Amino acid sequence: MTLRPILIHPDPRLKKVCAPVEAVTPEIGALAEDMLQTMYDAPGVGLAAPQVGVLQRLFVMDCVKEEGAARRPMVLINPEITWTSEETNTYEEGCLSIPDQYAEVTRPKRVRMAWTGLDGKRHEEEFDDLWAICAQHEFDHLNGKLFIDYLGPMKRQMITRRMEKLKRERARG
Ligand code: ZN
Repeated sequence: MTLRPILIHPDPRLKKVCAPVEAVTPEIGALAEDMLQTMYDAPGVGLAAPQVGVLQRLFVMDCVKEEGAARRPMVLINPEITWTSEETNTYEEGCLSIPDQYAEVTRPKRVRMAWTGLDGKRHEEEFDDLWAICAQHEFDHLNGKLFIDYLGPMKRQMITRRMEKLKRERARG
């Protein structure tokens, strides 16, 4: 198990449409385990493969937030959105690739997703509230889309400039 460095926006790898995972190999299992540990360590509730520089269609999430409650680590490979509710939800989102920046995004309140699990089987489940927000946010990453792409150009540019500055500062050490 290895913690993987998380790419910070702007990065061309965060703007790519990712390729389907062809088979659930031991390498994919190891990647998913690394991604979960990296997510918990950050800490965050979701992490998509392109955020660690792997341009394949999978993400991990765990939106259990009650203190002391059991974790529910989920690995979604080749996910598809099969249904979205008309009812929407507005939530202040953040992203591990855009640290310390938050903005309100409106999305369908509930979604149904189908995906392949690490067991190689197809699964389908309906997500609500934070799980639905997280699943849609992570799904967007697989298509090169970030939550700031839902904002107006002024706000998006302001956040992007802050991230460029952060990256320059980190590069200088
Ligand atoms: Zn994100």
